[in-house]
Amino acid sequence: MIPAPFEYARARSIEHAMEVLQDDEEAKLLAGGHSLIPLMKLRFVRPSMLVDIGALHELRYIRREDDHVAIGALTRHHDLANDAVLQRDCPIVADAASRIGDPQVRHMGTIGGSVAHADPASDLPAVLVALQAAFVIRGAAGAERIAAAGDFFQGLFTADLARAEILTEIRVPVRTAGWSFIKFTRRAQDWALVGVAAVAGPGGVTVALANMGQTPIRAAAVEARLAAGDPPETAALHADEGTAPPSDSFGDAEYRRGLVKVLVGRALVEALS
Ligand SMILES: Cc1cc2nc3c(=O)[nH]c(=O)nc-3n(C[C@H](O)[C@H](O)[C@H](O)COP(=O)(O)OP(=O)(O)OC[C@H]3O[C@@H](n4cnc5c(N)ncnc54)[C@H](O)[C@@H]3O)c2cc1C
Repeated sequence: MIPAPFEYARARSIEHAMEVLQDDEEAKLLAGGHSLIPLMKLRFVRPSMLVDIGALHELRYIRREDDHVAIGALTRHHDLANDAVLQRDCPIVADAASRIGDPQVRHMGTIGGSVAHADPASDLPAVLVALQAAFVIRGAAGAERIAAAGDFFQGLFTADLARAEILTEIRVPVRTAGWSFIKFTRRAQDWALVGVAAVAGPGGVTVALANMGQTPIRAAAVEARLAAGDPPETAALHADEGTAPPSDSFGDAEYRRGLVKVLVGRALVEALS
């Protein structure tokens, strides 16, 4: 299918993008276009105007700042995967980005687009929830607010992001201890049937799951069992508690419930080794 007709504006700055968004209630931001354009082709969404922020280089950076790595929202998956700072200070982000889709998707797709799109099957949202990342959001008149990743994803394709707000930066706390990102797919380059991100830090172990509900989900029962002293293999048996996995042509909910326990067990062993 081809998309419904729409206007197009190339943003010259963040402020310009905000102006266009505020002038047109049906306008949408366009970053890499690798989630939005497919939806437009299916006519699931019909924005009257696309505000293309793809050329805003001020939103494309990765830099170490104090206790976190700051990532501009327009940073491409390919850049995340190959960045020396991330590989050293937060390798789980680089690793997860390197396994998104295919090279074309990684060269066009952005971390900000992936986060804003809030697809529960996406890789980076689950990783950022496990890392307890923070999102910097620019609103009207330049006002900035910060949202915790754990509160940001509110439902299926629904995030704590108002229509005229722009996600500008992702802040990833630097953790020096272990990590694991496991993405279970039936074919290379598929979306995760189930994904698991586990991070072991000074405060304990955090585990987040992709494609096990309407949002990326913290495996709270697993974390609690580990904190209580259970060994990883016992804690992992609680990985499906509090989840609501989908059933689709790749696997039904029961299959995912069994699978997630196995994957969490493996992820914990790797993160804690
Ligand atoms: C064939 C294919 C395979 C893929 N495989 C995977 C995969 O294995 N794993 C995975 O995680 N993802 C996968 N993706 C999705 C890919 O990672 C997308 O690029 C990403 O989800 C969206 O990023 P984008 O920059 O393309 O966003 P866009 O499509 O441009 O935008 C997505 C949404 O976010 C909004 N938005 C974008 N940027 C901002 C911002 N800065 N502030 C506020 N709102 C914003 C847009 O308005 C739109 O609603 C795949 C995509 C394709 C086409």
